[in-house]
Amino acid sequence: MSEVLVIGGGAAGLAASIAAARAGKKVTLLEASGKTGAKILASGGGKCNYTNLSVCPGSYYDENKGFIEPLLDNFGAYDAIDFFESIGVYPSIKNGFVYPRSEEAATVLSALLRECEKLKVSIHTNAAVTHIESFKSGFKVFCEDYSYEADKVILAAGSPAGATGALCAYDIAKSFGHSINELSAALTGVLFSDILCSAAGIRTRAKASILTNDEILCESEGEVQLTSYGASGVPVMNISRFLGSAKEQYLVFDFIPETDEEEFDTALLSGTPLTAFFPKKLAALFDIMLMERHPKHYFVKLDGKRSFESAQVTRGGIPICEIDPLTFESKLAKGLFIAGEMLDVDGKCGGYNLHFAWASGFLAGCAAAGAEYKRTFTDADIERWKALDTGSRRSFI
Ligand SMILES: Cc1cc2nc3c(=O)[nH]c(=O)nc-3n(C[C@H](O)[C@H](O)[C@H](O)COP(=O)(O)OP(=O)(O)OC[C@H]3O[C@@H](n4cnc5c(N)ncnc54)[C@H](O)[C@@H]3O)c2cc1C
Repeated sequence: MSEVLVIGGGAAGLAASIAAARAGKKVTLLEASGKTGAKILASGGGKCNYTNLSVCPGSYYDENKGFIEPLLDNFGAYDAIDFFESIGVYPSIKNGFVYPRSEEAATVLSALLRECEKLKVSIHTNAAVTHIESFKSGFKVFCEDYSYEADKVILAAGSPAGATGALCAYDIAKSFGHSINELSAALTGVLFSDILCSAAGIRTRAKASILTNDEILCESEGEVQLTSYGASGVPVMNISRFLGSAKEQYLVFDFIPETDEEEFDTALLSGTPLTAFFPKKLAALFDIMLMERHPKHYFVKLDGKRSFESAQVTRGGIPICEIDPLTFESKLAKGLFIAGEMLDVDGKCGGYNLHFAWASGFLAGCAAAGAEYKRTFTDADIERWKALDTGSRRSFI
């Protein structure tokens, strides 16, 4: 009999297991696939951008802010850095974006697993949970061939985003009365057919906006990557969550966000070449099109966005109003905690989604163990971490 049983061996589930085991509980973790932490390994292009010094309610989308504020008060960026230092992951910080010093995601996953081993967390892989039933004063958790009894259950089964082949356990939450807000891919590339696609591979600074019914829905600035299917890069990924089912949606690129249109036109008229503004391939395209399409407001009709498999996160999931924001306990089933991306919380690119997974997992683990998380880092630690920030990476968010 486990005192705490965790479903899902991703970022949230591993953090939850460690927190509960540190509080002295006997913890079992069940992971559906053959290995834990697949998305941790894929994150940040293999470097794992695990938090961000600037994490704040504004790092997440509007509907999440009231829920996020107390979470970040209890577990902010310094808590995440401190937690990782406590398991032997030292930070490398570039303009607030925090990575492991090795710049290898494997460092993060192996440290989490080392800590689980030290704390005797019992990890079972190839153990997909099919359903849960209330049992005595706790739960009975069923996999295909086995069942487990537990006092408390933490559901941290992630989302369909990312090409990990992961299952997801929304039906388990539904069986306890939870609802699921509509799921859609977020932080992903967008699809369009345009001459721009012939410049696939080009990265350039731009502002990207989505226009629906003559209204700008959202915008984000940074390094856009042109691709054979359309576009990707941080600003495009940030706005992709707003792409819905409306038939007429346009992406508007401002390829010269730092220059006004008149200034740009005057520069060209006075003989400045387009290559002074753009990479050669893109400059050649604008050279052909300049009479009809201006780089300051370049419209493309969108055909949609890439699928869940190519997305980093999911918009939608279990509504946060059904969850206690301090303990992550379900308001509908006592003793059941829900953490990580299963919840309807999604953030921008920049370490904010992993931050949410660690923070919600860790606090759920403490609460399931009946323990309170106590900060141990000092002002001197904060100064030390701030001093590590090299600021060499430009933030466009
Ligand atoms: C390519 C990529 C790059 C990313 N880069 C970053 C980044 O640099 N920074 C950042 O902040 N975020 C990044 N993200 C997002 C971030 O990785 C996720 O938000 C985070 O990993 C979610 O953690 P989670 O534990 O909630 O879910 P997951 O990591 O999805 O873990 C859930 C686990 O539960 C298991 N599971 C599912 N169903 C069951 C079941 N029925 N029984 C048992 N187990 C089950 C799954 O197999 C999975 O291992 C990236 C995502 C991707 C895909």
